[in-house]
Amino acid sequence: MRVDCHCDTALALLTECSLRRLPGWQLDLQRAGRYLDLAVMAIFIDERRYASAMAAQFQKVLSLLQADIDRQNDLVTPLLWREQLGKTDQRTLLLIGAEGAEPIGADGGMLEQFYREGLRLLGLTWNGANSYAGGCASGEGLTAAGQKLVQRCNSIGILIDGAHLNRRSFWQLLECSSQPVIVSHTACDALHHHRRNLDDEQMRALADHGGVMGIAFVPDFLGGAGDLLRLCEHIEHAVTVMGSSHVALGSDFDGCKPVAELGDISQLPRLYAALAERGMAEEDLAQIIGGSAADLLQKILPPEPAL
Ligand SMILES: [Zn+2]
Repeated sequence: MRVDCHCDTALALLTECSLRRLPGWQLDLQRAGRYLDLAVMAIFIDERRYASAMAAQFQKVLSLLQADIDRQNDLVTPLLWREQLGKTDQRTLLLIGAEGAEPIGADGGMLEQFYREGLRLLGLTWNGANSYAGGCASGEGLTAAGQKLVQRCNSIGILIDGAHLNRRSFWQLLECSSQPVIVSHTACDALHHHRRNLDDEQMRALADHGGVMGIAFVPDFLGGAGDLLRLCEHIEHAVTVMGSSHVALGSDFDGCKPVAELGDISQLPRLYAALAERGMAEEDLAQIIGGSAADLLQKILPPEPAL
């Protein structure tokens, strides 16, 4: 299983008519079909631009994405139910996520509708604070509404993403979530201090809680030379602290300028080879490449309803 826990490629639908072939982008459905078995497609709506129309803009991108996935069903299929993870399907599974909970409204009224339309991962906030939680650029914690939202997601089968949270919100999230969570695109604070990175204590708690950390290919998070070698060091540190069954990859393709050697998804085998050359055991590598993320989704996603 090869899994990428975070990309922003879905936003290409605002300017392109399909995600099938996107020259100049870091990922598209043709390349996902070749290099991934599962990709998380996050939908990010910029609050500064769509302040009063977050739900409508999210709905627009979600509908465009659904329609495109339908049209490209020789390559991809939406991941909705846990049973799909065990099936052999040549197609790449696409998990639809929201990067920030503003689109569901301050009362959470849109959550069930977006769930019915395929939403299966939810970040509570982006860098700022909203009615649910405080992001890494704010001092706010998880609100009462945020705690309630986490519990609703726990019960219907939406994976909560703690990427972008500040430390206070992170700890409150672990406390109130009855289900394991993911931090989909981050890196190790012990190697490079950055407000988007997790420190060792957070990493251990995330793992103890059954969760998964996706290491991003973002040079700013990695520090040092910000290259492939540095990325390997972050992955190896995470494995040492958490164990490989809690570590995954969350490239942030089409949301960042990635490390130079991994300019697009077709370069992913270079990362696998580098980790193997540096001595990572085969079973650990298999977990990082996708086993950990798939196991987590197996626990979180709802079972397919009987007809
Ligand atoms: Zn992000």
